[in-house]
Amino acid sequence: MNFTGANILSVEQFHRDSIEQIFEVADRMLPYARRQKRTRVLDGAILGNLFFEPSTRTRVSFGTAFNLLGGEVRETTGMESSALAKGESLYDTARVLSSYSDVIAMRHPKSGSVAEFAQGSRVPVINGGDGANEHPTQALLDLYTIKKELAYHGHSVDGMHICMMGDLKFGRTVHSLSRLLALYDNIRFTLISPRELMMPDSVLAVIEKAGHEVTVTDQVSGSSDADIVYQTRIQQERFTSPAEADQYRGKFRLNSEIYTRHYKPNTVIMHPLPRDSRAEANELDNDLNQHPNLAIFRQADNGVLIRMALFALTLGVADQVEKYECEVNWYSDKRNV
Ligand code: ASP
Repeated sequence: MNFTGANILSVEQFHRDSIEQIFEVADRMLPYARRQKRTRVLDGAILGNLFFEPSTRTRVSFGTAFNLLGGEVRETTGMESSALAKGESLYDTARVLSSYSDVIAMRHPKSGSVAEFAQGSRVPVINGGDGANEHPTQALLDLYTIKKELAYHGHSVDGMHICMMGDLKFGRTVHSLSRLLALYDNIRFTLISPRELMMPDSVLAVIEKAGHEVTVTDQVSGSSDADIVYQTRIQQERFTSPAEADQYRGKFRLNSEIYTRHYKPNTVIMHPLPRDSRAEANELDNDLNQHPNLAIFRQADNGVLIRMALFALTLGVADQVEKYECEVNWYSDKRNV
């Protein structure tokens, strides 16, 4: 796929080849993320980092990824502090902000809004999450993590068994990840959620049409040979009231005892984060923090590599990153990771 100048709006635009292309570039980003080397390949470029919905990891990792390639970041956060609150259309905002930037990363609470924004943009737009719809960069980093974690255990993505759990209705990360995984062969999906928070039919249709085996259930049992357990948060912000979300919080928890009882010893534990650590939710307990199969922080680290790769590709410099390399002079413990 020719990424130069392309928007990254949905995982639907990818095939296995284009995913591999992104992963190959992501692998080459490791020395820069580890501070073994610097690169100035995007010196002078500006990222417009527009986050109209809460975010910590995604927003900061987009910014960090751009900085690590030598570019600068201009940021706006929250709807209230933007002209959208004055009734400005997404088209107008895009038209103006794209003339201030070379690429835009954007998150917005409404499904489809990032694609709408992209129509007014003169620079590539990367979807950082649009409502309950999609989160393509998260899905890419999740798949990159799955691939690496499974390789460590001598397995591949093809033929694996993934168990997704929690709020599968509003969780955009599981929507995008399921669609990406549908491109692989013979995946077993076990989808565990309260009945009201089941995976949407539109996503189920994609994975079923691709011939994968899907089990939809509201019970944790039956997933004992899962290679991956992917826990999610109840997406409170998508419910009509916090009280409605309260009914589901804490329904499916994962802690050391439940993990040991229901999963095999090398099941990899993932979560897109943030995990809701309040006692009434606590979907992924701190008692698993030291567990070697807990991949959540490796997942977050991989986000920087994937986002660096996407910037290098969409701005057409993926083959020049090493050419603009320089030394890192300051002390950094990351080099020893
Ligand atoms: N950070 C992820 C997202 O933005 C997951 C979550 O918020 O629960 O979708």
